[in-house]
Amino acid sequence: MSGPRPVRAPRGTELSALGWQQEAALRMLQNNLDPEVAEHPDKLVVYGGTGKAARDWRSFDAMVRTLRTLKQDETMLVQSGRPVGVMQTHEWAPRVLIANSNLVGDWANWEEFRRLEALGLTMYGQMTAGSWIYIGTQGILQGTYETFSAVAAKKFGGTLAGTITLTAGLGGMGGAQPLAVTMNDGVAICIDVDPRAIERRIEHRFLDVRADSLEHALQLAVEARDARRPLSIGLLGNAAELLPRMLAESAPIDIVTDQTSAHDPLAYLPVGVDFADMASYAAKDPAGFTTRARESMARHVEAMVGFMDAGAEVFDYGNSIRGEAQLAGYERAFAFPGFVPAYIRPLFSEGRGPFRWAALSGEASDIAKTDKAILDLFPEGDSVQNESLHRWIKLAGERVRFQGLPARICWLGYGERDKAGERFNDMVASGELAAPLAIGRDHLDCGSVASPYRETEAMLDGSDAIADWPLLNAMVNVASGASWVSIHHGGGVGMGRSLHAGQVTVADGTKLAGEKIRRVLTNDPGMGVIRHVDAGYDIAESVADERGVRIPMREG
Ligand code: NAD
Repeated sequence: MSGPRPVRAPRGTELSALGWQQEAALRMLQNNLDPEVAEHPDKLVVYGGTGKAARDWRSFDAMVRTLRTLKQDETMLVQSGRPVGVMQTHEWAPRVLIANSNLVGDWANWEEFRRLEALGLTMYGQMTAGSWIYIGTQGILQGTYETFSAVAAKKFGGTLAGTITLTAGLGGMGGAQPLAVTMNDGVAICIDVDPRAIERRIEHRFLDVRADSLEHALQLAVEARDARRPLSIGLLGNAAELLPRMLAESAPIDIVTDQTSAHDPLAYLPVGVDFADMASYAAKDPAGFTTRARESMARHVEAMVGFMDAGAEVFDYGNSIRGEAQLAGYERAFAFPGFVPAYIRPLFSEGRGPFRWAALSGEASDIAKTDKAILDLFPEGDSVQNESLHRWIKLAGERVRFQGLPARICWLGYGERDKAGERFNDMVASGELAAPLAIGRDHLDCGSVASPYRETEAMLDGSDAIADWPLLNAMVNVASGASWVSIHHGGGVGMGRSLHAGQVTVADGTKLAGEKIRRVLTNDPGMGVIRHVDAGYDIAESVADERGVRIPMREG
């Protein structure tokens, strides 16, 4: 009988599949559903509202069964979380090809998606949930750390010491916010309606304390701010209620953002609804719930705009809350920018983005060794970016508690990811690491996503909604030798608003893996460089010239 049960990836070097490429896919699928990693493993939900790793338990079982018997020249096809075929390919081809949540343009909305989902025909793959490279909250921590560092550099002289950040959402992704703020020496007040989310972040050491009330939260925050002491405070409540109250009381807030699951109106709690009734109400009356959630989001965003008018640094953190507030009729919803044009685009133009790897051995010591390899490969004195990289790896080593298989993330650029990947493969080959590594990334990367409210908001040439780039990205990763490749729709910002692609490449210590890694980890970030050259970004042109990225329209 297929049904909910605890899932955990095997550790060690004993294979239950026919090779490490297949074994890696199997372990990473299982790891996504590890109760330490997934938000709601019994429902196969990994993170991000309803982002799933498999469509249903029968599909999960079929994928596990198939991966265990899949040959080195075969490829399993996955259609929205269900294995639908095995085809003979060749050893350079990916072992798994995944397409999740894709819908034809005019049908690409939540209503149609939910209708099809209820019929058992599709599932929501979010980004790394359905492509089996979610590594827990750490995955987003580095990106969030980078963003708050950029806020500090832009507005507060390079540090958040002496500032208070106000945000909401302490889920799988949003839970990284408190630690990212304190790593930048600031104070954070983080609101969530779910007491479990607050407790969980405290347990995982991402959040420091829980306040008893709004007044208590503000008192703790002001004391820490005045002492220039980092502190993160969890506050139970509805953001759509608390933000307007805090604005009315002129709370001394310097930075405001949000990471509630606003991309999915059925995952945002409307004002006046008890948290305990949320799931049953959303199931019973999705249309009524959606209208009320959007109205609440409009009040929430209106308060964010109020804080902006009062002088705070305010940005949308990629959850589509501005779009939802606008749908509810709030006209100034887009008064503040998204975080990508505000802080991240220059990094994307260089091909920098969220490089990550997981130790299939299960040994924390493998990650410690790879951390050291990264620090050796990219010496601190060589660039400002290497300085931040060193600070991050050191802090991550001290502060990050692994969830599931030990893993690490750091942002690396074009010409760096391939170096790191090849070094890792050599470390597997020499026996320095106990077992192979799965090397992947978030779909939120420099050249792998089209998302006009987030990664491609306000592109220089207006090409925000052009979705050819993520499709080319997936195809180039297939052609370069990635171990599994995925194309998704609707991740991050919701149905109709994004198309994106992912890749994972396994360092199993073989010469073949080394060849694949060199190509994939060059071409994948290379997509970021060419995408930004095409859109007219100077930084991208310099990187292309310096590092030899060929762009036909600039040759001859
Ligand atoms: P999640 O579903 O795990 O967590 C969302 C949290 O919001 C939950 O804990 C929920 O209790 C809380 N919440 C819901 N309504 C609320 C309300 N009215 N007031 C206060 N709290 C409320 O989702 P997640 O994985 O943490 O992702 C959060 C959002 O961030 C999603 O929209 C996701 O798409 C987006 N996201 C952003 C990035 C980025 O880099 N910026 C990356 C991934 C995801």
